[in-house]
Amino acid sequence: MNNYEKLANLIFPDITETIEDLEKRYPARDLPEGAKVTRFAPSPTGFLHTGSLFASMISRKMAKDSNGVFYTRLEDTDQKREVAGSGDSLIDQLNKFGVTPDEGYLGTDKEKGNYGPYVQSLRANIYKVVIKYMLANNMAYPCFCSPEELSEMRKVQEAKKENFGYYAEYAKCSKLSAEEAIERIEKGENFVIRFRSQGDYHNKVAIDDAIRGHIEMAENDQHLVIYKSDGLPTYHFAHLVDDHFMRTTHVTRGEEWMPSLPMHIELFNSMNWQAPTYAHLPVIMKLDNGNRRKLSKRKDLEAAVSFFLEQGYPIEGFMEYLYTIANSNYEAWRIENPDLDKDEFKFSFDKMSLDGALFDLAKVQFLCKEKLGRMNTETFFNESRQWASVYSPELFELIEENPGFYKQIVSIEREKENPRKDYEKYSDILPLIKFFYNNYYNELVKELIVPENYTQENINEVLTKYVESFDLSLSEEDWFNHMKEVAVECGYATNRKDYKKNPEAYKGQVSDVAAILRLVVTLRLQSPNLYFVMQILGKEEVTRRIKNFIK
Ligand code: GLU
Repeated sequence: MNNYEKLANLIFPDITETIEDLEKRYPARDLPEGAKVTRFAPSPTGFLHTGSLFASMISRKMAKDSNGVFYTRLEDTDQKREVAGSGDSLIDQLNKFGVTPDEGYLGTDKEKGNYGPYVQSLRANIYKVVIKYMLANNMAYPCFCSPEELSEMRKVQEAKKENFGYYAEYAKCSKLSAEEAIERIEKGENFVIRFRSQGDYHNKVAIDDAIRGHIEMAENDQHLVIYKSDGLPTYHFAHLVDDHFMRTTHVTRGEEWMPSLPMHIELFNSMNWQAPTYAHLPVIMKLDNGNRRKLSKRKDLEAAVSFFLEQGYPIEGFMEYLYTIANSNYEAWRIENPDLDKDEFKFSFDKMSLDGALFDLAKVQFLCKEKLGRMNTETFFNESRQWASVYSPELFELIEENPGFYKQIVSIEREKENPRKDYEKYSDILPLIKFFYNNYYNELVKELIVPENYTQENINEVLTKYVESFDLSLSEEDWFNHMKEVAVECGYATNRKDYKKNPEAYKGQVSDVAAILRLVVTLRLQSPNLYFVMQILGKEEVTRRIKNFIK
């Protein structure tokens, strides 16, 4: 046994598995040629960022399009930064947006698949096997430098205007012999384990990024920590081990990981493992007073996907939007294929813009309005009810009191060629339908302000005539004709042309009468088709509202 092996055994006496054992335990996946294995690997440190949803949606789509596998892995090695419960809520939100994993960590301690465990803190022994191998082969070494020594070193680097970090001459413990290291460990000194980089910052490493194409970056020369004093690896090292043994073929992640790329490449090369294909996504931007800036966790509500869930944007509309910013040819495809499921569109990395996708809330709203407008009554009923059960107790109570009544309300002008587009999100529903409910109506009517161009006298005259004679069993056309008759009797012009020609001769035109009726019945100047509204409210209630108003 040589000294490096002795050192490895001293540090990890209980680790008996070898790299070969792991290769056998996690064999190459049995997938069709060209199948992509992708993953979403969140750290449980907060909420699901819109950018992360975007990246994971692309990962899932790439796997789906190639009959591959999309899996989830929880990266919880930085336990100081962990926010309790956030891992499960990240996975839950991912599922809500339809980005469902084929395998991996499924939340609430459940997982599925043969390449687990999929939670990094449960993989400590797997990492140790690889670290032990690296120690035994002098590819890694224990570092005894104290935090004080490291900050001293940083000051020197700052003064000399040199790169920060543990590298080349600064990598003090890399110069220790295995015997010296063994001696210090036996004396009980604290240590971490570092990767022995062979790189030189003055050399270039060539990288092919699936989105950015061929790039060159300075080689890594940092002797990064791969094993911390808490017994867990750092992110970079876990990335190497997990993406190798989980057989990931494509890593799609944010461009903030670009600077780490030379380090990741060196790690894979040092083990003679094939690195995955990387696709570094441009950051999602936002227009702020005419300037482009990053969508910010602190400043922008739309940076957290929970915002869209709480507001009740329909998932399909929101995802449609993410597709449009993911691939530049998606919108043209959509125009040609208005009725196909968006999943039929095939994603490609080279149709991704490098400028940074611009997040446009107005466009999200437009697309969501479209989706909600085209939803059939049954789906709209179910989805809005589901949303209300979580986010709007007030609406939920109304629905549950009388589901049939609510369904009638939301069915107005639905399933039509040109459907009404009232709502862009489920939270728009309640304010727009309150008037249907008597409790709300009776309160709101007290605050009704009638536009000045209608005099009380004129309004009363029209309403009195109308309420005496209206008939809801008529067809829509006849119902409307009756209203016209009432209008004419009261001195209103039957059409706009007549009125314009001789305004002095009339009190107004039929549309004014319709507006008055609408206002009294719905308390709004704009509402869904009044004929249907009256049908739903029923003759008795419409009569009550009108008579009450005349008083
Ligand atoms: N855990 C990392 C993060 O949350 C994942 C980065 C990656 O996808 O490799 O940012």
